[in-house]
Amino acid sequence: MATKKAPRTAERELLFGNLWDYDPAPETAQPHLDTRYELFIGGKFTKPRSKKYFPSLSPRDASHLADIAHANATDVDAAYQAAANAFPAWSKLPGAERGKYLYRIARLLQDRAREFAVAETLDGGKPIKEARDFDLPMAAAHFFYHAGWADKLAYATPGKNLAPLGVVGQIIPWNFPLLMLAWKLAPALACGNTVVLKPAETTSITCIKFATLLLEAGLPPGVVNFVTGPGDTGKAVVQHPLAKKIAFTGSTAVGKWIQHTLAGSSKRLTLELGGKAANIIFEDAPLDQAVEGIINAIFFNQGHVCCAGSRLLVQESIADQVLAKLKNRLRTLRVGDPLDKNTDIGAINSSQQLAKIQELCAAGVAEGAEMHQPDCSLPTNGYYFPPTIFSGVSLSHRIAREEIFGPVLSILTFRTPEEAIEKANNTCYGLSAGVWTDKGSRILRMATQLKAGVIWANTYNKFDPTSPFGGYKESGFGREGGRQGLLDYAECV
Ligand code: NAP
Ligand code: MG
Repeated sequence: MATKKAPRTAERELLFGNLWDYDPAPETAQPHLDTRYELFIGGKFTKPRSKKYFPSLSPRDASHLADIAHANATDVDAAYQAAANAFPAWSKLPGAERGKYLYRIARLLQDRAREFAVAETLDGGKPIKEARDFDLPMAAAHFFYHAGWADKLAYATPGKNLAPLGVVGQIIPWNFPLLMLAWKLAPALACGNTVVLKPAETTSITCIKFATLLLEAGLPPGVVNFVTGPGDTGKAVVQHPLAKKIAFTGSTAVGKWIQHTLAGSSKRLTLELGGKAANIIFEDAPLDQAVEGIINAIFFNQGHVCCAGSRLLVQESIADQVLAKLKNRLRTLRVGDPLDKNTDIGAINSSQQLAKIQELCAAGVAEGAEMHQPDCSLPTNGYYFPPTIFSGVSLSHRIAREEIFGPVLSILTFRTPEEAIEKANNTCYGLSAGVWTDKGSRILRMATQLKAGVIWANTYNKFDPTSPFGGYKESGFGREGGRQGLLDYAECV
Protein backbone atom coordinates (compact mmCIF):
# COMPACT_ATOMS: atom_id res chain seq x y z
CA MET A 1 0.00 0.00 0.00
CA ALA A 2 1.15 3.55 -0.71
CA THR A 3 2.02 5.48 2.43
CA LYS A 4 3.05 9.07 3.05
CA LYS A 5 6.39 8.93 4.90
CA ALA A 6 6.49 11.21 7.90
CA PRO A 7 9.65 13.31 8.11
CA ARG A 8 11.97 12.28 10.93
CA THR A 9 11.78 15.10 13.40
CA ALA A 10 14.65 16.11 15.66
CA GLU A 11 12.56 15.17 18.71
CA ARG A 12 11.93 11.69 17.35
CA GLU A 13 15.63 11.17 16.50
CA LEU A 14 16.62 12.31 19.98
CA LEU A 15 14.27 9.87 21.69
CA PHE A 16 14.82 6.79 19.61
CA GLY A 17 17.80 7.42 17.37
CA ASN A 18 16.93 5.63 14.17
CA LEU A 19 13.38 4.32 14.74
CA TRP A 20 13.01 0.76 13.50
CA ASP A 21 11.51 0.36 10.09
CA TYR A 22 9.52 -2.79 9.45
CA ASP A 23 9.42 -4.68 6.19
CA PRO A 24 5.86 -5.40 5.09
CA ALA A 25 4.50 -8.69 6.47
CA PRO A 26 1.21 -9.13 4.60
CA GLU A 27 -1.17 -11.93 5.53
CA THR A 28 -1.53 -14.05 2.40
CA ALA A 29 -4.37 -16.46 3.26
CA GLN A 30 -7.33 -16.31 0.87
CA PRO A 31 -10.58 -14.87 2.33
CA HIS A 32 -12.62 -16.57 -0.45
CA LEU A 33 -14.97 -13.64 -1.02
CA ASP A 34 -17.89 -13.66 -3.45
CA THR A 35 -18.79 -10.63 -5.49
CA ARG A 36 -22.42 -10.78 -4.30
CA TYR A 37 -24.01 -11.98 -1.03
CA GLU A 38 -27.67 -12.99 -0.76
CA LEU A 39 -29.91 -13.30 2.30
CA PHE A 40 -29.90 -16.56 4.28
CA ILE A 41 -33.49 -17.64 4.94
CA GLY A 42 -34.83 -21.11 5.72
CA GLY A 43 -31.42 -22.70 5.10
CA LYS A 44 -31.10 -21.23 1.58
CA PHE A 45 -29.34 -18.27 0.03
CA THR A 46 -32.25 -16.14 -1.15
CA LYS A 47 -32.41 -13.13 -3.48
CA PRO A 48 -33.97 -10.08 -1.80
CA ARG A 49 -37.60 -9.26 -2.73
CA SER A 50 -36.44 -5.65 -2.81
CA LYS A 51 -34.15 -6.61 -5.75
CA LYS A 52 -31.71 -4.12 -4.21
CA TYR A 53 -28.08 -4.57 -3.21
CA PHE A 54 -25.70 -2.19 -1.45
CA PRO A 55 -21.89 -2.08 -1.71
CA SER A 56 -19.54 -3.23 1.05
CA LEU A 57 -16.24 -1.36 0.99
CA SER A 58 -12.94 -2.23 2.55
CA PRO A 59 -11.88 0.60 4.87
CA ARG A 60 -8.30 -0.58 4.26
CA ASP A 61 -8.20 1.15 0.85
CA ALA A 62 -11.84 2.17 0.19
CA SER A 63 -12.08 -0.52 -2.51
CA HIS A 64 -15.36 -2.22 -3.40
CA LEU A 65 -15.44 -5.75 -1.92
CA ALA A 66 -18.89 -7.10 -2.73
CA ASP A 67 -22.58 -6.28 -3.13
CA ILE A 68 -24.87 -7.23 -0.26
CA ALA A 69 -28.60 -7.96 -0.45
CA HIS A 70 -30.89 -5.29 1.01
CA ALA A 71 -33.68 -7.05 2.93
CA ASN A 72 -37.01 -5.20 3.02
CA ALA A 73 -39.94 -5.86 5.37
CA THR A 74 -41.20 -8.76 3.18
CA ASP A 75 -37.78 -10.44 3.38
CA VAL A 76 -37.69 -9.95 7.14
CA ASP A 77 -41.17 -11.48 7.35
CA ALA A 78 -39.99 -14.51 5.34
CA ALA A 79 -37.07 -14.90 7.76
CA TYR A 80 -39.40 -14.79 10.79
CA GLN A 81 -41.78 -17.32 9.18
CA ALA A 82 -38.82 -19.67 8.54
CA ALA A 83 -37.64 -19.27 12.14
CA ALA A 84 -41.18 -19.89 13.48
CA ASN A 85 -41.51 -23.05 11.35
CA ALA A 86 -38.17 -24.34 12.65
CA PHE A 87 -38.93 -23.58 16.30
CA PRO A 88 -41.10 -26.59 17.33
CA ALA A 89 -38.62 -29.25 16.21
CA TRP A 90 -35.51 -27.33 17.34
CA SER A 91 -36.87 -26.53 20.79
CA LYS A 92 -37.92 -30.16 21.34
CA LEU A 93 -34.52 -31.60 20.39
CA PRO A 94 -32.75 -33.04 23.44
CA GLY A 95 -30.23 -30.50 24.76
CA ALA A 96 -27.36 -32.89 24.06
CA GLU A 97 -28.33 -32.87 20.36
CA ARG A 98 -28.45 -29.08 20.19
CA GLY A 99 -25.09 -29.08 21.95
CA LYS A 100 -23.61 -31.28 19.19
CA TYR A 101 -24.57 -28.69 16.55
CA LEU A 102 -22.93 -25.94 18.61
CA TYR A 103 -19.74 -28.00 19.02
CA ARG A 104 -19.72 -28.66 15.29
CA ILE A 105 -20.10 -24.94 14.52
CA ALA A 106 -17.26 -24.10 16.93
CA ARG A 107 -14.96 -26.71 15.35
CA LEU A 108 -15.78 -25.61 11.81
CA LEU A 109 -15.05 -22.01 12.75
CA GLN A 110 -11.69 -23.09 14.16
CA ASP A 111 -10.95 -25.03 10.96
CA ARG A 112 -11.63 -21.97 8.81
CA ALA A 113 -10.35 -19.38 11.29
CA ARG A 114 -7.59 -17.97 9.07
CA GLU A 115 -9.93 -17.49 6.09
CA PHE A 116 -12.56 -15.80 8.30
CA ALA A 117 -9.92 -13.62 10.01
CA VAL A 118 -8.74 -12.22 6.66
CA ALA A 119 -12.35 -11.61 5.53
CA GLU A 120 -13.08 -9.83 8.85
CA THR A 121 -10.01 -7.61 8.51
CA LEU A 122 -10.73 -6.75 4.87
CA ASP A 123 -14.37 -5.89 5.52
CA GLY A 124 -14.02 -4.13 8.88
CA GLY A 125 -10.46 -2.73 8.98
CA LYS A 126 -9.24 -4.32 12.24
CA PRO A 127 -5.56 -5.46 12.40
CA ILE A 128 -5.17 -9.04 11.21
CA LYS A 129 -3.36 -9.97 14.42
CA GLU A 130 -6.46 -8.98 16.42
CA ALA A 131 -8.91 -10.77 14.07
CA ARG A 132 -6.66 -13.86 14.15
CA ASP A 133 -5.74 -13.89 17.86
CA PHE A 134 -8.86 -12.39 19.45
CA ASP A 135 -12.06 -12.27 17.37
CA LEU A 136 -11.91 -15.76 15.87
CA PRO A 137 -10.76 -17.72 18.96
CA MET A 138 -13.27 -15.85 21.16
CA ALA A 139 -16.13 -16.45 18.72
CA ALA A 140 -15.35 -20.19 18.69
CA ALA A 141 -15.02 -20.15 22.50
CA HIS A 142 -18.58 -18.79 22.83
CA PHE A 143 -19.96 -21.68 20.78
CA PHE A 144 -17.91 -24.22 22.76
CA TYR A 145 -19.03 -22.74 26.07
CA HIS A 146 -22.72 -22.69 25.17
CA ALA A 147 -22.51 -26.19 23.65
CA GLY A 148 -21.69 -27.24 27.20
CA TRP A 149 -24.79 -25.51 28.59
CA ALA A 150 -27.27 -26.99 26.06
CA ASP A 151 -27.82 -30.24 27.99
CA LYS A 152 -27.34 -28.69 31.45
CA LEU A 153 -30.04 -26.02 31.45
CA ALA A 154 -31.74 -27.70 34.42
CA TYR A 155 -28.65 -26.82 36.50
CA ALA A 156 -28.79 -23.11 35.59
CA THR A 157 -31.84 -22.57 37.81
CA PRO A 158 -31.94 -25.36 40.41
CA GLY A 159 -35.46 -26.53 41.18
CA LYS A 160 -36.92 -24.93 38.06
CA ASN A 161 -36.86 -25.74 34.36
CA LEU A 162 -35.87 -23.38 31.60
CA ALA A 163 -37.95 -23.09 28.42
CA PRO A 164 -36.92 -21.25 25.24
CA LEU A 165 -38.71 -18.01 24.36
CA GLY A 166 -39.43 -18.74 20.67
CA VAL A 167 -38.14 -16.68 17.73
CA VAL A 168 -35.56 -14.10 18.73
CA GLY A 169 -34.63 -11.01 16.67
CA GLN A 170 -30.99 -9.94 17.01
CA ILE A 171 -29.19 -6.84 15.72
CA ILE A 172 -25.42 -6.37 15.93
CA PRO A 173 -22.88 -3.56 15.25
CA TRP A 174 -19.76 -3.37 13.07
CA ASN A 175 -16.93 -3.34 15.58
CA PHE A 176 -16.71 -7.11 16.29
CA PRO A 177 -18.96 -8.60 13.59
CA LEU A 178 -18.26 -12.31 14.09
CA LEU A 179 -17.77 -12.10 17.83
CA MET A 180 -21.05 -10.22 18.33
CA LEU A 181 -22.74 -12.82 16.13
CA ALA A 182 -21.34 -15.57 18.38
CA TRP A 183 -22.40 -13.70 21.56
CA LYS A 184 -25.93 -13.54 20.19
CA LEU A 185 -26.38 -16.90 18.42
CA ALA A 186 -24.71 -19.30 20.87
CA PRO A 187 -26.87 -18.69 23.99
CA ALA A 188 -30.07 -18.33 21.94
CA LEU A 189 -29.52 -21.69 20.21
CA ALA A 190 -28.33 -23.46 23.38
CA CYS A 191 -31.67 -22.59 25.03
CA GLY A 192 -33.68 -23.86 22.03
CA ASN A 193 -34.70 -20.56 20.41
CA THR A 194 -34.59 -19.87 16.67
CA VAL A 195 -33.12 -16.66 15.32
CA VAL A 196 -33.41 -13.81 12.80
CA LEU A 197 -30.17 -11.80 12.90
CA LYS A 198 -29.21 -8.56 11.18
CA PRO A 199 -25.52 -7.65 10.94
CA ALA A 200 -24.31 -4.04 10.51
CA GLU A 201 -24.38 -2.58 7.03
CA THR A 202 -20.61 -2.04 6.75
CA THR A 203 -19.67 -5.55 7.98
CA SER A 204 -22.13 -8.11 6.62
CA ILE A 205 -19.70 -10.34 4.73
CA THR A 206 -18.48 -12.63 7.52
CA CYS A 207 -22.07 -13.07 8.71
CA ILE A 208 -23.21 -14.43 5.35
CA LYS A 209 -20.00 -16.47 5.06
CA PHE A 210 -20.92 -17.91 8.45
CA ALA A 211 -24.11 -19.25 6.85
CA THR A 212 -21.97 -21.60 4.72
CA LEU A 213 -20.54 -22.97 7.92
CA LEU A 214 -24.04 -23.51 9.38
CA LEU A 215 -24.93 -25.50 6.26
CA GLU A 216 -21.75 -27.55 6.64
CA ALA A 217 -22.70 -28.24 10.27
CA GLY A 218 -26.09 -29.55 9.05
CA LEU A 219 -28.07 -27.08 11.20
CA PRO A 220 -31.79 -27.62 10.40
CA PRO A 221 -33.18 -25.01 7.93
CA GLY A 222 -34.72 -21.92 9.53
CA VAL A 223 -33.03 -22.27 12.93
CA VAL A 224 -30.79 -19.33 11.99
CA ASN A 225 -31.71 -16.70 9.37
CA PHE A 226 -29.59 -13.70 8.31
CA VAL A 227 -31.14 -10.53 6.89
CA THR A 228 -28.69 -7.90 5.67
CA GLY A 229 -29.52 -4.24 5.13
CA PRO A 230 -29.47 -0.76 6.64
CA GLY A 231 -31.33 0.66 9.66
CA ASP A 232 -34.72 0.11 7.98
CA THR A 233 -34.07 -3.63 7.89
CA GLY A 234 -33.28 -3.41 11.62
CA LYS A 235 -36.56 -1.58 12.24
CA ALA A 236 -38.48 -4.40 10.50
CA VAL A 237 -36.65 -6.95 12.70
CA VAL A 238 -37.66 -5.02 15.84
CA GLN A 239 -41.28 -4.49 14.82
CA HIS A 240 -42.11 -8.00 13.58
CA PRO A 241 -45.00 -9.54 15.57
CA LEU A 242 -43.41 -13.02 15.70
CA ALA A 243 -40.39 -11.78 17.70
CA LYS A 244 -40.56 -12.93 21.34
CA LYS A 245 -37.39 -11.08 22.23
CA ILE A 246 -35.11 -8.45 20.70
CA ALA A 247 -31.41 -8.50 21.55
CA PHE A 248 -29.63 -5.37 20.37
CA THR A 249 -26.02 -4.24 20.49
CA GLY A 250 -25.31 -0.78 19.12
CA SER A 251 -25.65 2.90 19.84
CA THR A 252 -27.60 4.35 22.74
CA ALA A 253 -29.70 6.45 20.34
CA VAL A 254 -31.00 3.40 18.44
CA GLY A 255 -31.34 1.46 21.72
CA LYS A 256 -33.65 4.20 23.05
CA TRP A 257 -35.78 4.05 19.90
CA ILE A 258 -36.11 0.27 20.26
CA GLN A 259 -37.09 0.50 23.93
CA HIS A 260 -39.66 3.16 23.08
CA THR A 261 -41.05 1.04 20.21
CA LEU A 262 -41.37 -2.11 22.32
CA ALA A 263 -42.89 -0.36 25.35
CA GLY A 264 -46.26 -1.93 26.14
CA SER A 265 -45.58 -5.08 24.09
CA SER A 266 -44.82 -8.46 25.63
CA LYS A 267 -41.51 -8.72 23.75
CA ARG A 268 -38.45 -9.15 25.94
CA LEU A 269 -35.54 -6.80 25.35
CA THR A 270 -31.83 -6.69 26.15
CA LEU A 271 -29.69 -3.71 25.16
CA GLU A 272 -25.89 -3.55 25.01
CA LEU A 273 -25.15 0.08 24.22
CA GLY A 274 -22.36 2.65 24.36
CA GLY A 275 -19.81 3.51 27.03
CA LYS A 276 -17.30 6.11 28.22
CA ALA A 277 -15.22 4.07 30.63
CA ALA A 278 -12.90 5.51 33.26
CA ASN A 279 -9.49 3.86 33.53
CA ILE A 280 -8.20 4.99 36.95
CA ILE A 281 -4.46 5.02 37.68
CA PHE A 282 -3.31 5.58 41.28
CA GLU A 283 0.18 6.80 42.15
CA ASP A 284 1.14 3.41 43.65
CA ALA A 285 0.33 1.49 40.44
CA PRO A 286 3.13 -0.32 38.58
CA LEU A 287 3.45 2.43 35.98
CA ASP A 288 5.02 0.62 33.03
CA GLN A 289 2.41 -2.12 33.32
CA ALA A 290 -0.34 0.49 33.65
CA VAL A 291 0.88 2.33 30.55
CA GLU A 292 0.60 -0.89 28.52
CA GLY A 293 -2.88 -1.35 30.00
CA ILE A 294 -3.89 2.20 29.04
CA ILE A 295 -2.64 1.67 25.47
CA ASN A 296 -4.51 -1.62 25.14
CA ALA A 297 -7.65 -0.15 26.75
CA ILE A 298 -8.01 2.64 24.19
CA PHE A 299 -6.22 1.54 21.01
CA PHE A 300 -7.43 -2.09 20.76
CA ASN A 301 -9.56 -2.36 17.59
CA GLN A 302 -8.86 1.36 16.79
CA GLY A 303 -10.88 2.25 19.89
CA HIS A 304 -14.05 0.90 18.23
CA VAL A 305 -14.84 -0.83 21.51
CA CYS A 306 -17.91 -0.07 23.63
CA CYS A 307 -15.97 -0.76 26.84
CA ALA A 308 -12.78 1.10 25.71
CA GLY A 309 -10.92 2.91 28.50
CA SER A 310 -11.51 6.26 26.78
CA ARG A 311 -11.27 8.48 29.90
CA LEU A 312 -7.97 8.14 31.72
CA LEU A 313 -8.22 9.34 35.32
CA VAL A 314 -4.68 9.73 36.60
CA GLN A 315 -3.65 10.76 40.11
CA GLU A 316 -2.25 14.30 39.95
CA SER A 317 1.14 13.42 41.50
CA ILE A 318 2.04 11.12 38.57
CA ALA A 319 0.16 12.89 35.76
CA ASP A 320 3.24 14.37 34.03
CA GLN A 321 5.15 11.10 34.28
CA VAL A 322 2.26 9.07 32.84
CA LEU A 323 1.74 11.54 29.99
CA ALA A 324 5.45 11.40 29.08
CA LYS A 325 5.44 7.59 29.10
CA LEU A 326 2.26 7.49 27.01
CA LYS A 327 3.67 9.90 24.42
CA ASN A 328 6.77 7.72 24.09
CA ARG A 329 4.70 4.57 23.71
CA LEU A 330 2.44 6.24 21.14
CA ARG A 331 5.41 6.72 18.83
CA THR A 332 6.11 3.00 18.65
CA LEU A 333 2.57 1.97 17.69
CA ARG A 334 2.43 0.84 14.07
CA VAL A 335 -0.52 2.38 12.27
CA GLY A 336 -1.52 1.32 8.77
CA ASP A 337 -2.47 -1.60 6.55
CA PRO A 338 -4.64 -3.88 8.72
CA LEU A 339 -3.62 -6.89 6.64
CA ASP A 340 0.01 -6.43 7.71
CA LYS A 341 0.84 -8.75 10.60
CA ASN A 342 2.91 -5.99 12.29
CA THR A 343 0.08 -3.47 12.42
CA ASP A 344 -1.17 -2.35 15.85
CA ILE A 345 -3.81 0.15 14.68
CA GLY A 346 -5.66 -0.58 11.46
CA ALA A 347 -8.32 1.28 9.49
CA ILE A 348 -11.31 3.21 10.83
CA ASN A 349 -14.41 1.22 9.92
CA SER A 350 -16.06 3.75 7.59
CA SER A 351 -15.72 7.28 6.22
CA GLN A 352 -18.71 8.30 8.43
CA GLN A 353 -16.97 7.03 11.57
CA LEU A 354 -13.74 8.79 10.53
CA ALA A 355 -15.66 12.06 10.10
CA LYS A 356 -17.20 11.62 13.59
CA ILE A 357 -13.75 11.10 15.17
CA GLN A 358 -12.32 14.12 13.32
CA GLU A 359 -15.24 16.30 14.41
CA LEU A 360 -14.91 15.35 18.09
CA CYS A 361 -11.13 15.88 18.05
CA ALA A 362 -11.63 19.34 16.52
CA ALA A 363 -14.10 20.06 19.35
CA GLY A 364 -11.47 18.94 21.89
CA VAL A 365 -8.95 21.43 20.50
CA ALA A 366 -11.58 24.20 20.25
CA GLU A 367 -12.60 23.64 23.88
CA GLY A 368 -8.99 24.07 25.04
CA ALA A 369 -7.58 20.56 25.57
CA GLU A 370 -4.05 19.84 24.33
CA MET A 371 -3.83 17.26 21.54
CA HIS A 372 -0.84 14.89 21.19
CA GLN A 373 -0.35 12.76 18.08
CA PRO A 374 2.77 10.82 17.06
CA ASP A 375 4.71 11.61 13.97
CA CYS A 376 3.49 8.59 11.98
CA SER A 377 2.82 7.73 8.34
CA LEU A 378 -0.73 6.93 7.28
CA PRO A 379 -1.76 5.10 4.10
CA THR A 380 -2.97 7.51 1.42
CA ASN A 381 -6.08 5.48 0.50
CA GLY A 382 -8.67 4.18 2.96
CA TYR A 383 -9.77 5.58 6.33
CA TYR A 384 -7.09 6.13 8.96
CA PHE A 385 -6.65 8.20 12.09
CA PRO A 386 -3.48 8.45 14.21
CA PRO A 387 -3.53 7.37 17.87
CA THR A 388 -4.40 10.55 19.77
CA ILE A 389 -4.17 11.70 23.38
CA PHE A 390 -5.74 14.81 24.87
CA SER A 391 -4.35 16.23 28.11
CA GLY A 392 -5.84 19.07 30.15
CA VAL A 393 -9.35 17.67 29.68
CA SER A 394 -12.13 18.63 32.06
CA LEU A 395 -15.45 16.89 32.65
CA SER A 396 -17.38 19.54 30.73
CA HIS A 397 -15.46 18.90 27.47
CA ARG A 398 -17.33 16.98 24.79
CA ILE A 399 -14.36 14.61 24.44
CA ALA A 400 -14.85 13.66 28.11
CA ARG A 401 -18.60 13.12 27.81
CA GLU A 402 -19.36 11.75 24.34
CA GLU A 403 -18.38 8.35 23.04
CA ILE A 404 -15.78 8.93 20.30
CA PHE A 405 -15.48 5.24 19.33
CA GLY A 406 -12.02 5.84 17.88
CA PRO A 407 -8.32 5.83 18.90
CA VAL A 408 -8.64 8.92 21.10
CA LEU A 409 -7.84 9.10 24.82
CA SER A 410 -8.93 11.96 27.11
CA ILE A 411 -6.80 12.48 30.23
CA LEU A 412 -8.28 13.94 33.42
CA THR A 413 -6.64 14.12 36.84
CA PHE A 414 -7.78 13.51 40.42
CA ARG A 415 -6.30 13.89 43.92
CA THR A 416 -8.25 11.51 46.18
CA PRO A 417 -10.05 8.18 45.66
CA GLU A 418 -13.35 9.99 46.38
CA GLU A 419 -12.69 12.46 43.57
CA ALA A 420 -11.79 9.58 41.23
CA ILE A 421 -15.10 7.84 41.96
CA GLU A 422 -17.06 11.07 41.61
CA LYS A 423 -15.48 11.79 38.22
CA ALA A 424 -15.66 8.18 36.98
CA ASN A 425 -19.40 7.96 37.77
CA ASN A 426 -20.12 11.42 36.32
CA THR A 427 -21.35 10.04 32.97
CA CYS A 428 -24.61 8.84 31.50
CA TYR A 429 -22.92 5.51 30.73
CA GLY A 430 -21.98 2.59 33.00
CA LEU A 431 -20.47 -0.23 30.99
CA SER A 432 -16.90 -0.75 32.24
CA ALA A 433 -14.03 0.69 34.28
CA GLY A 434 -10.40 -0.07 35.16
CA VAL A 435 -8.49 0.40 38.42
CA TRP A 436 -4.68 0.31 38.67
CA THR A 437 -3.17 0.25 42.17
CA ASP A 438 -0.89 -1.87 44.33
CA LYS A 439 -3.51 -2.12 47.11
CA GLY A 440 -6.05 -4.94 47.02
CA SER A 441 -8.28 -3.17 49.56
CA ARG A 442 -8.46 -0.10 47.31
CA ILE A 443 -9.43 -2.24 44.33
CA LEU A 444 -12.31 -3.73 46.30
CA ARG A 445 -13.44 -0.35 47.60
CA MET A 446 -13.37 1.22 44.14
CA ALA A 447 -15.17 -1.76 42.61
CA THR A 448 -18.08 -1.44 45.02
CA GLN A 449 -18.47 2.30 44.35
CA LEU A 450 -17.97 2.43 40.57
CA LYS A 451 -21.28 2.16 38.72
CA ALA A 452 -20.14 -0.04 35.84
CA GLY A 453 -21.08 -3.54 34.67
CA VAL A 454 -17.49 -4.76 34.27
CA ILE A 455 -14.52 -3.58 36.36
CA TRP A 456 -11.00 -4.72 35.55
CA ALA A 457 -8.23 -4.48 38.16
CA ASN A 458 -4.60 -4.07 37.02
CA THR A 459 -5.61 -5.27 33.56
CA TYR A 460 -8.08 -4.24 30.87
CA ASN A 461 -10.16 -5.69 28.02
CA LYS A 462 -10.08 -9.27 29.31
CA PHE A 463 -13.03 -11.31 28.04
CA ASP A 464 -14.27 -14.80 28.72
CA PRO A 465 -17.49 -16.54 27.63
CA THR A 466 -18.11 -17.61 31.23
CA SER A 467 -18.13 -14.01 32.46
CA PRO A 468 -21.29 -11.91 32.06
CA PHE A 469 -20.91 -8.59 30.21
CA GLY A 470 -23.35 -5.68 30.20
CA GLY A 471 -24.07 -2.22 31.53
CA TYR A 472 -25.93 0.17 33.78
CA LYS A 473 -27.66 3.46 32.97
CA GLU A 474 -27.51 4.41 29.26
CA SER A 475 -25.14 1.52 28.55
CA GLY A 476 -28.20 -0.74 28.54
CA PHE A 477 -29.51 -3.73 30.47
CA GLY A 478 -29.30 -7.51 30.30
CA ARG A 479 -26.11 -9.55 30.29
CA GLU A 480 -24.27 -11.57 27.65
CA GLY A 481 -22.06 -14.51 28.57
CA GLY A 482 -22.05 -16.75 31.62
CA ARG A 483 -25.11 -18.13 33.37
CA GLN A 484 -26.68 -14.66 33.53
CA GLY A 485 -26.47 -14.26 29.76
CA LEU A 486 -28.09 -17.64 29.22
CA LEU A 487 -31.05 -16.71 31.44
CA ASP A 488 -31.83 -13.75 29.15
CA TYR A 489 -32.78 -16.30 26.44
CA ALA A 490 -35.12 -18.49 28.47
CA GLU A 491 -37.99 -18.38 30.91
CA CYS A 492 -38.38 -20.31 34.13
CA VAL A 493 -41.27 -22.79 33.99
P1 NAP B 1 -25.93 1.64 15.54
O1 NAP B 1 -26.00 2.69 14.53
O2 NAP B 1 -26.87 1.69 16.67
O3 NAP B 1 -26.09 0.27 14.77
C1 NAP B 1 -26.16 -0.98 15.41
C2 NAP B 1 -27.02 -1.88 14.56
O4 NAP B 1 -28.35 -1.41 14.55
C3 NAP B 1 -26.59 -1.96 13.11
O5 NAP B 1 -26.84 -3.26 12.63
C4 NAP B 1 -27.53 -0.95 12.47
O6 NAP B 1 -27.70 -1.13 11.10
C5 NAP B 1 -28.80 -1.21 13.22
N1 NAP B 1 -29.77 -0.12 13.23
C6 NAP B 1 -29.60 1.19 12.90
N2 NAP B 1 -30.76 1.87 13.07
C7 NAP B 1 -31.67 0.97 13.51
C8 NAP B 1 -33.04 1.06 13.88
N3 NAP B 1 -33.72 2.21 13.86
N4 NAP B 1 -33.67 -0.07 14.30
C9 NAP B 1 -33.01 -1.24 14.38
N5 NAP B 1 -31.71 -1.38 14.02
C10 NAP B 1 -31.05 -0.29 13.61
O7 NAP B 1 -24.51 1.51 16.20
P2 NAP B 1 -23.13 1.38 15.44
O8 NAP B 1 -22.71 2.75 15.10
O9 NAP B 1 -23.20 0.36 14.37
O10 NAP B 1 -22.23 0.73 16.58
C11 NAP B 1 -21.52 1.48 17.48
C12 NAP B 1 -22.23 1.56 18.80
O11 NAP B 1 -22.47 0.27 19.34
C13 NAP B 1 -21.42 2.27 19.82
O12 NAP B 1 -22.19 3.22 20.49
C14 NAP B 1 -20.96 1.19 20.78
O13 NAP B 1 -20.69 1.58 22.05
C15 NAP B 1 -22.07 0.22 20.70
N6 NAP B 1 -21.62 -1.12 21.04
C16 NAP B 1 -21.98 -1.63 22.25
C17 NAP B 1 -21.55 -2.89 22.65
C18 NAP B 1 -21.94 -3.47 23.98
O14 NAP B 1 -21.80 -4.67 24.19
N7 NAP B 1 -22.44 -2.69 24.91
C19 NAP B 1 -20.74 -3.64 21.79
C20 NAP B 1 -20.38 -3.09 20.56
C21 NAP B 1 -20.85 -1.82 20.19
P3 NAP B 1 -26.72 -0.36 10.06
O15 NAP B 1 -25.37 -0.85 10.30
O16 NAP B 1 -27.21 -0.79 8.75
O17 NAP B 1 -26.90 1.10 10.35
MG1 MG C 1 -17.07 -3.14 4.98
